Amino acid sequence: MNRSKPSLTRRQFLYRAAAVGGSALLLNTMNAWGMGIASRASAPPALGGSGKGKKVVILGAGLAGLTAAYELGKLGYQCEVLEARGFAGGRCQTARKGFRLQELGGEEQVCRYDEGHYLNHGPWRIPLDHQSTLYYTRLFNVPLEVMVNDNDHAYVYLEDGGPLSRRRLRGAEIKADMRGHVAELLAKTVRGRQLDTQLSADDQAMLLDYLAHEGALSTSDLKYRGRNGRGYAVNPGAGLKPGTPSDPLAFNELLASKVGKVYSAVQEFPMHATMFQPVGGMDQIPRAFARRLGKAVRYHAEVQRIRQAGGKVTVDYKDSASGRLSSTSADYCLCTLPLSVLRTIDTDFSNAFKDAVKAVSYAPVGKIGLQMGRRFWEEDDNIYGGHVLTDMKGINVISLPSGNWQQKKGVVLGYYHYALDAIEASALNPAERAEFALAAGQKIFPAYRSTYENAFSVAWHRVQYNLGGWAEWSEAARERAYPLLLEGQDRVLLAGEHLSYLTGWQAGAIESAWQQIEQLHKRASA
Ligand SMILES: Cc1cc2nc3c(=O)[nH]c(=O)nc-3n(C[C@H](O)[C@H](O)[C@H](O)COP(=O)(O)OP(=O)(O)OC[C@H]3O[C@@H](n4cnc5c(N)ncnc54)[C@H](O)[C@@H]3O)c2cc1C
Repeated sequence: MNRSKPSLTRRQFLYRAAAVGGSALLLNTMNAWGMGIASRASAPPALGGSGKGKKVVILGAGLAGLTAAYELGKLGYQCEVLEARGFAGGRCQTARKGFRLQELGGEEQVCRYDEGHYLNHGPWRIPLDHQSTLYYTRLFNVPLEVMVNDNDHAYVYLEDGGPLSRRRLRGAEIKADMRGHVAELLAKTVRGRQLDTQLSADDQAMLLDYLAHEGALSTSDLKYRGRNGRGYAVNPGAGLKPGTPSDPLAFNELLASKVGKVYSAVQEFPMHATMFQPVGGMDQIPRAFARRLGKAVRYHAEVQRIRQAGGKVTVDYKDSASGRLSSTSADYCLCTLPLSVLRTIDTDFSNAFKDAVKAVSYAPVGKIGLQMGRRFWEEDDNIYGGHVLTDMKGINVISLPSGNWQQKKGVVLGYYHYALDAIEASALNPAERAEFALAAGQKIFPAYRSTYENAFSVAWHRVQYNLGGWAEWSEAARERAYPLLLEGQDRVLLAGEHLSYLTGWQAGAIESAWQQIEQLHKRASA
């Protein structure tokens, strides 16, 4: 190390250490030194005055539309929600027995899971700092349970993992050994006085003490020789069974496996190890809204045209069941349709605004849920929830259910993929998608295929009324189009996950609704 360079700050040092040691070590070190990430807090805006005597037509009964209708209704506004589907929730859907889905140009799937089993094929996890989503689960008494988002006991399976290819490794083995080896390296660097210009003697002593605990190093020679947190070769038991320690994976093998690639996504913000899920399915949240909104939501109302004239907004819609055309007028309109859909609708927006609506792209995303007749991951492998991470093409992750523990059956998420993988798999029919998922999962779990019973899959970019998983903004579009869309057009305001920096999260939809109803109320009260 070049001693003539100016000292690094603690934070700079730790960020650089991350390049060597990986983000788990960094995060732990930062948390130990009190540099953790702040949590977000949220509640709907406290709005004064009243909306009595004013009508708002809300387009779409996804979480943004439902939130807006609920909050504006409390203020006295008359809200009419037009929803093309026959149910509330939009992307917030749960597939259970009898649930039907027909993708554009595809065959209709009818979910055949046993009673009590389901797949959240849209949103499936609530991070603990998404206080806006949790605000409504608390308010509406939607029971939550823990969603195991990171399980060190689940496997990592790499096809392109160098010396570690095609081995079922436990996450705990990899993390313990990487932490140990990196801690050893860093500790030896400190003891070799190579950080003298960057850390004070006191900081170095504290760092050495921390690394010895972090990496389970022997304090005499700073060597990592494994730790019991990575698991035993033979587990301890009663009587004369102290257990047999397991050998650590070699540092050079771990490096050559490039195992970091499967961890990068699951360590993005806000991927906490523990998350929440509503008991019985994510759609319990929109159902709770819908019960409270009652007849304010008009289902099967497919918006076709939006016009503004004479201080009113007029929306034409078609009954998607009968084909009958109708129209409704209001003082304001809050449009929560995904921009991928809004751009196909006849509006009198300015050309600049129409261009802004077209400026964002939507993510191709797919999921499949496989009902297994036996919970082999629990019974044979002692894995309770969490994700199997893999580099197998088109799979990305296999997730194990965080509920119905120890029952006979369970629904396994067989893949969750994006971009090109999602586009390629969506060309397959449902049976072919299931076969694709089974062929991959079978490589990891011997009982995968023999216990398989039935499947339900979705390719969100082929789903009418969504045409994509979530909005994906380029930097240029954020700069150019986003501010315009936030402004709305006269009496039409927009809301939805796409108008947030939390795209792809329910919190984005809810917080966007909170922000836009505040604007709407200001305009209506002016
Ligand atoms: C695969 C996947 C995984 C996800 N995972 C998570 C997660 O784990 N946690 C999380 O918090 N979030 C997650 N999300 C994101 C979350 O689902 C969305 O951000 C949120 O549900 C979007 O809500 P919204 O109201 O903005 O849009 P939507 O839910 O899309 O609502 C728009 C509504 O408009 C309706 N509509 C469309 N066209 C018309 C029309 N012409 N006329 C009338 N109505 C129309 C639609 O039917 C829909 O009800 C995930 C999303 C996907 C797709």
